[in-house]
Amino acid sequence: MEILNYNKNTLRRQLLQQRAALSMELWRSHSDLLCHHLSTCPEFISARTILAYQSCRQEPNLDYLFTHTNKQWGLPRCVGKNLVWHCWQPSEPMLIGAYGILEPSPELPPIEPDNVDLMLVPAVAIDRSGYRLGYGGGYYDRLRADPLWRKMLTIGIVFDFAYVETLPIEAWDLPIDNVCTELGVTKSTFIYAAE
Ligand code: ADP
Ligand code: MG
Repeated sequence: MEILNYNKNTLRRQLLQQRAALSMELWRSHSDLLCHHLSTCPEFISARTILAYQSCRQEPNLDYLFTHTNKQWGLPRCVGKNLVWHCWQPSEPMLIGAYGILEPSPELPPIEPDNVDLMLVPAVAIDRSGYRLGYGGGYYDRLRADPLWRKMLTIGIVFDFAYVETLPIEAWDLPIDNVCTELGVTKSTFIYAAE
């Protein structure tokens, strides 16, 4: 597939269709493998506070990771155009928020970026340079435009079929440090445009 010739919307539709077509069995087994790779990588092991997500629309499921009760987990709420993060443990109930995404109660303690060691970033696709195709809301781009959030270590989470060579990018898209798929964790090879 010549990815560069596709615009973001066409790609989103195509990759989301491909993910929706995964059988339940494959979705589960790939998610568990992905969680295994993630939970044995040094960045995860050394992290104390980790920002994550609740799987939606067949995103890789992170439930296996949440059994690591020695971690402080953080989950986001969509508030207007921003993500607001709260401390969360698997015993806490979830509420249905914007876009039908499960989110933590607004009454749970907020998380400040200075206290976070690692952010797991959901995506529709990620490329070898770490650039991310999201759902089109720009939520993670806006969050990471703030220097306090920008310096945070990030691992993007996608199934291998969505880990592609090159994605179309725009001025505000920021690369992710590492990518985890069911095949393992890979460091992004940043490519900067020549001056
Ligand atoms: P996604 O990252 O979800 O795939 P896009 O990269 O296409 O989506 O961005 C969606 C929208 O978010 C863009 O039209 C852009 O206007 C807005 N956006 C992205 N980053 C910022 C930012 N740092 N400040 C303001 N708006 C932003
Ligand atoms: Mg973007």
